[in-house]
Amino acid sequence: MTAKQIGETRMASITCQGNLNIDGERLWQSLMSMAEIGALPGGGCRRLGLTPEDSEARALLVEWAMEIGCSVGRDLVGNLFIRRLGTQPDLPPVMVGSHLDTVATGGRFDGALGVLGGLEVMRTLQDASIANERTIELVVWINEEGVRFVPGNTGAFAFAGENTVEQVLADTDLHGISIGEALAALNEAGQEAVGGRPVEAYFELHVEQGPYLERAGVPVGIVTGTYTIKYFDLTITGRAAHLAQPLPDRQDALVGAAEAIIAIRKVGATYGNDGRSNASWINVFPNVRGTVAESVHMSCDVRHADPERARAMAEDLEKAIEEASQRSGMPMTLESTLQFGPIEFDPELVDLLRATARARGHKAQDILTVAGHDAIALASVLPAAMIFVPSAGGLSHNEREYTDPESCAIGADILLHAVLAKAGISEQPLKLAEVNVGVMVCSNGCSGSGSGFAEP
Ligand SMILES: [Zn+2]
Repeated sequence: MTAKQIGETRMASITCQGNLNIDGERLWQSLMSMAEIGALPGGGCRRLGLTPEDSEARALLVEWAMEIGCSVGRDLVGNLFIRRLGTQPDLPPVMVGSHLDTVATGGRFDGALGVLGGLEVMRTLQDASIANERTIELVVWINEEGVRFVPGNTGAFAFAGENTVEQVLADTDLHGISIGEALAALNEAGQEAVGGRPVEAYFELHVEQGPYLERAGVPVGIVTGTYTIKYFDLTITGRAAHLAQPLPDRQDALVGAAEAIIAIRKVGATYGNDGRSNASWINVFPNVRGTVAESVHMSCDVRHADPERARAMAEDLEKAIEEASQRSGMPMTLESTLQFGPIEFDPELVDLLRATARARGHKAQDILTVAGHDAIALASVLPAAMIFVPSAGGLSHNEREYTDPESCAIGADILLHAVLAKAGISEQPLKLAEVNVGVMVCSNGCSGSGSGFAEP
């Protein structure tokens, strides 16, 4: 079969479900209800990973999922799996997912759209009494944002086998509380093994978090791959002193940090539109009024669409920090911590998303993601792809982050039809009702189904 014929076959199979539509109003209402958890005065959300707000958001999702007969499971690191069982449950599942945690001053759509878009897929299938052949799993990965526990994408990386369960559970926040302790306190840890099982496809719907789709006037981005991102920790060592100390005698780590931040910014500025260089977190010690800073610890990164250019940027960054160290007269240590990309998403799934957008009449363009996502962390072990919808003004990680209802609905529409294309529609009668009964009668209030999934 030629590539053209394959494409035609896919188009045909998608078109045959053309009368199946998600409920955009319901999706929007769900997004707004979810946004009430951890709501901030400026219209955004604060649900740091593995905090009571994060847990409350998961509980609301579970409540909604139970209403449509899904089963619920959690793995040992707290990843949450909402399952709409297929008529062939032994086949590898089709996954959709994202995260419900936010940054400290986050928006209502980053992460939540992917999760609630997945829920809307399941609700739509339920309304239409469609039985999926493969099980569809909606996954909420833990600690995507990496604010409380550093770095982020903790659950997705664990699922991909990048970190052991023991390593994940031992990670601590700034107050010394481990992920294991946080999970236990919230009763969010489950019993399922982490990863290590086949997955047919993983789709993640997400807001773009940048300006390109809006500027192009295109409602959908088919994410073909990622920028290369290289993260670093920078330590600047000064000397604490009273502010009575004359300026020439000081080794002020905060002044060194100012030099470093400007130097970091200049690195990216020389790499055109595709260059990004960032300093985004800083910890000053002792950080008290009246005392010259003794040390500064900060995170920085460089990003570029071209992996070679990203590598060159990392070298430029090292040089820039060396020069900043000489100018300020203080030792600066730059330590490479983590690298994302370059990753190309699964070509077949990317093609499927393009074909789905076409078949559904949505204008779409290919795009790379500049931001890190769970899909990127997972792409090494399963076929993954992403759908982007525009962020108004390119704003994200901002309380004013906004994606309009129509764009959210378009994204969920493509998600629905791509998921169905991979999960398959069963000719067998819907078995979900039987599963529902199993869930409803579960005597201890658990949400396990007959498939052996069970809450701890
Ligand atoms: Zn996100």
